[in-house]
Formats: sequence, structure tokens, C-alpha cells
Amino acid sequence: MARPTQTARLVKKACISESAQCYHLEFVIEELASLDFAAGQFISTLAVDGNGKLQTRAYSLASAANANKFELCVNRVEGGFFSNHLADLPEGGTIQVHGPHGNFTLRAPLTDSIFVATGTGIAPMRSFTQWLFPEAGEHAGQDRSQGKDIWLVYGTRHESELYYRDYFERVAAEHENFHYIKTLSRAPAEWSGLRGYVQEYVGHIVDERNRKLAPAVEAVVAGHSSVAVAEPVLAEIPAFDIHTYICGLNNMVSAVRDKLTGYGWHKKQIIFERYD
Ligand SMILES: Cc1cc2nc3c(=O)[nH]c(=O)nc-3n(C[C@H](O)[C@H](O)[C@H](O)COP(=O)(O)OP(=O)(O)OC[C@H]3O[C@@H](n4cnc5c(N)ncnc54)[C@H](O)[C@@H]3O)c2cc1C
Repeated sequence: MARPTQTARLVKKACISESAQCYHLEFVIEELASLDFAAGQFISTLAVDGNGKLQTRAYSLASAANANKFELCVNRVEGGFFSNHLADLPEGGTIQVHGPHGNFTLRAPLTDSIFVATGTGIAPMRSFTQWLFPEAGEHAGQDRSQGKDIWLVYGTRHESELYYRDYFERVAAEHENFHYIKTLSRAPAEWSGLRGYVQEYVGHIVDERNRKLAPAVEAVVAGHSSVAVAEPVLAEIPAFDIHTYICGLNNMVSAVRDKLTGYGWHKKQIIFERYD
């Protein structure tokens, strides 16, 4: 049986990176009072292609729930059907959607969290961040982060592909527990920021955090033992006081997962969404 779908109308479109052909799209579902979803989920979009075939694709919601509106962040894929259909959709045009779907959502209780994304994998991270630090709607001005440290590690090839940079820089300036770490894999000589791949910076965060936690762990161990502890007992650091959320293409997701499992992380601490 076909799933029920809704009609979503494009109310605003902006090209946010000419070089990467990336579009920010804002939709409204007029037949609904609200589209309820958890930050990080995706929506399925449907449209008929040039051969009369119904095509369905998944797109992460790039906004937090806000009445009957939702936002997407879509890159044109050369030769692809749906990404070009969305990028070419005029304001006022419609698509069919169903959802929300997916389990790429913040785990409760909230812990310190590392968000890792490349390219349009930033979409669910924007949704998470909007939910944690709402700026619009009935929760505007609230802070749901509970003082947990949140790191966003975002990797792109070029500076012009740092989607939503102004937004994330503003959140980082306003909330000292939100850390925005951006790195370019093909930076020009004049780039003074970070270079290289996201997994490297995820490693730095984990190392630094372990170093900070080590004295506390030593103290706990020393308090329960008459044997002097010569080295920090890093393996004893309690698990599940931190999660990592990864979104993007499979190669990057695998590299970050490998990095974290190398630190002995449990697979339940590593939540991921693959686009390919
Ligand atoms: C859960 C989920 C969430 C997603 N969220 C987003 C999102 O927020 N933004 C977004 O832009 N995309 C997202 N995607 C990818 C999206 O669903 C489509 O796969 C993508 O837009 C390409 O669709 P298309 O119809 O244009 O290309 P297709 O016609 O499906 O494919 C054309 C060719 O491009 C290749 N291809 C497919 N996808 C990609 C890709 N991502 N990069 C490079 N080559 C590709 C295919 O192998 C094929 O050869 C998500 C995917 C999943 C599974």
C-alpha cells in the first residue's frame, strides 16, 4: 500500500555555494498545522522523472521542528535526477513528501557530543544545533544543551563550501560550550585555519578530553587502592558520557568510526548516517 504523502511548497530558495552548487530550500506543508520530527531525521521526497517513473530520495531535515515548515540543504549531483529537480524547483513549486524517518537523533540523556560532517552532511547537524540552541518559535532563547560540550567538526574541500558558516560561528560566539571546528582538505596557501581531514580533529578532541578527565579518574582509582597509580588510567574513563554523530559519505563515516573504535569506543556511542 502506498504511504500517505503531503504536498510541500518551496517558499524560499538560496544558492549557498556557487562552486559546489549547494542550495538551501525552505518548504511549507500547508495541509499540516505542524510537521513533528526529532532533530536529525530525514524526509522522503517524491517526484516523477522524465520517463514517467516515480522517484524517491531521502534528504536530511536541515532545521529543527518549526510549525509546518522544514528546510533542506541539497547539493546538485551531476547527472542525478532528484538533486537537480530540487535545485531547479522554482519558488512556489511543489514536491510530494513523506516522513519524518530515521534514527539519526540525539541520544537521551544528552551527553558531551561530537558532531562530524562533510558536505551536505551538515544538514542534520544544523537541525541538532537549532534544537539545542533555539532561536525561533516557542522555545526561542532556551538552551537545551545542559552545559554539555558540543563540538562540530566540519570538513570541506574549499572555504566556499563551509555551508552555514555564519550561523555556526554565531552560535559558537554566543555559547561557550559549542565549539565550531572547520577544516579544509584543499586549502590554498593563504588559508590560516585548520587543514586536513575531520577524523584527525576528532582524535584531537578525544585526546584532549581524556587528558582533562585523567586526573579525576586517577583520584577515583587512588581512593580505592593502596597501590600508587603511576600512569593515568585512561581505559577506566566511564563510557557513554560522550557520543559522536557522523553524517556524510561512506568513506568519511568509516574513517571516523575506525578512529573512535581505535580509542575503545563502544559502537552505541557512535551514531551515523550515510548518504551513499
Ligand atoms: C538518509 C539520507 C539523507 C540524505 N540527505 C541528503 C541531504 O541532506 N542533502 C543532499 O544533498 N543529499 C542527501 N542525501 C543523498 C540524496 O538522497 C541523493 O542520493 C542525492 O541527492 C543524489 O540523488 P539524485 O537523484 O540527484 O542522483 P541519482 O539519480 O540517484 O544518482 C546519479 C548518480 O550520482 C551518484 N550519486 C548519488 N548520490 C550521490 C552523492 N551524494 N554524491 C555523489 N554522487 C552521488 C549515483 O551513484 C549515480 O551514479 C541523503 C541520503 C540519505 C540516504
